Amino acid sequence: MGKNELLKKMKKNKKNNDQNKWGMAFYNFSLVKAKGIKPFKPVNDDYTVVTVPFPVGVNRMPDEKEGDTSYVVLVYVHYKLGVDGKENAICMAKTYGKKCPVCDYVKTHELDEETQKDLKPKERALYFLKEKGSDDVKFFQVSAPLFEHELGDAREAFAKSGECDPSPIYTEDGCYFTFTDTGVKGLQRFKNFIFKTKEKDLIKKVDKKITDQVFPLDEVLNLHAYDEIKKNMYFDMDELDDSETDENEEPLEAYVEHLPKEKKKKDKDKKKKKKNKDKD
Ligand SMILES: [Zn+2]
Repeated sequence: MGKNELLKKMKKNKKNNDQNKWGMAFYNFSLVKAKGIKPFKPVNDDYTVVTVPFPVGVNRMPDEKEGDTSYVVLVYVHYKLGVDGKENAICMAKTYGKKCPVCDYVKTHELDEETQKDLKPKERALYFLKEKGSDDVKFFQVSAPLFEHELGDAREAFAKSGECDPSPIYTEDGCYFTFTDTGVKGLQRFKNFIFKTKEKDLIKKVDKKITDQVFPLDEVLNLHAYDEIKKNMYFDMDELDDSETDENEEPLEAYVEHLPKEKKKKDKDKKKKKKNKDKD
């Protein structure tokens, strides 16, 4: 069977088997939707927003403890995975210091420059944002270098002014910041990050109505086991049958405790037993 035929067959199987029509993804938007939170989608305009902090959940933010307050989830993501190149997964190496099958693949294969660039983990930032004049908390997922890094620089510059607390944590001393989305045709670009002096009337609204809307934002991250990512990344046709990599059975340790219990190993054992029986 040629590679193209094989790819077609895989695509078909995948469609039939996949419960999630989007395939592998680094975060689960349906969890956000289920909480009644809408996405924040800036389009070529000026915005005045504040980040709404959330309590950190369990085991998904390595630098934070459960129950700490944070305002952003930062992760590294591999894009262009899957049969269609439209799937993505957290880089377990750069985000959690674990083994990552995509990084391993890049390390062990001679790839052209473009592929190397495509497979390089990209830093993403996830936020809860509230726009000025609205009580609705929204969900924002964006490139960290284009947004969080710019925001950090602006915050540092503004902190010196002492007019209000530019810390990202939404408190009575906190302040809004403005930015301009200058992106065109789906390409996001942000500039003009400026922190605003506290506006008393706005800050009065810092209350339960806002903070009650949030939940541990890190819980939307999808943690896939090494073999799961490997199986779904579809780079190396020759390695497709190589699904039994026992040395990587438990690469995530603490990070996988929220994943559904894997039943594949038991099933495998059963099959093996059955095969042996049939032989007898
Ligand atoms: Zn990686």
